[in-house]
Amino acid sequence: MLTMSHTWRDFEQTRPQIAVLPVGAVEQHGSHLPVGTDCFIAAEFAERLALHLDAYLLPTLAITCSIEHRKALGTVYLRADTLALVIRDIADSLCESGFKQLLIVNGHGGNYILKPAIREFNRDYEDRQAEMEVVLLAGAIVGANAGGPNQHPASSDVHAGEKETSLMLHLHPELVRESVPGGSVLPEVDQSMLDYLDMTETCADGYWGYPESASPEKGRLFAEHFVACALDYLDKLKRLKAKLRN
Ligand SMILES: [Zn+2]
Repeated sequence: MLTMSHTWRDFEQTRPQIAVLPVGAVEQHGSHLPVGTDCFIAAEFAERLALHLDAYLLPTLAITCSIEHRKALGTVYLRADTLALVIRDIADSLCESGFKQLLIVNGHGGNYILKPAIREFNRDYEDRQAEMEVVLLAGAIVGANAGGPNQHPASSDVHAGEKETSLMLHLHPELVRESVPGGSVLPEVDQSMLDYLDMTETCADGYWGYPESASPEKGRLFAEHFVACALDYLDKLKRLKAKLRN
């Protein structure tokens, strides 16, 4: 695995073809988790994948689409089209230096723009006859939201709940505040209401889900589950492409 701690000579010698980009967010995560929660989680998942694939682990893209949290201090965000352009430029620059695949490990559900953006980028590379593929890896895409250790479904454990609190208890327990909120506060709205209202307007403390059900063990198991699902997904994509295009 190579990282930004290596020299360009190291890259020249090993010529890695896969780059892994963790994509996080800097946004409120309730009163019990830090604003960088999505960055810490995405960085860990990305590092495990990069180690497994002997890839280039890129530094975390920390600031992304968090406009729905803007009324909570500490939140910083990009507009969605800015994020798409940043990803496009990263992929283009990697393509120019011989990379064949960019894996985006997305730790923030609000980055909806990534999906249509990479759908287009992959067609652009095809049209340019460039051997580059951008792959989006997130819990819902690779199937990790099912079959894991968590008690509550992802649809009701949306933000800073059982899953994210468990992961932070496993990865960075020193950053989890002792007073993990008790008693679930579930807004009487669905997630589409975040197109109109801020998260801290719909959920007073800023979390949406079940942080009281979190444990470090669930975090450990979920991290392993995510990486296994992501590797399966990549393998499935590779086999399908080989079957259909060769
Ligand atoms: Zn989060």
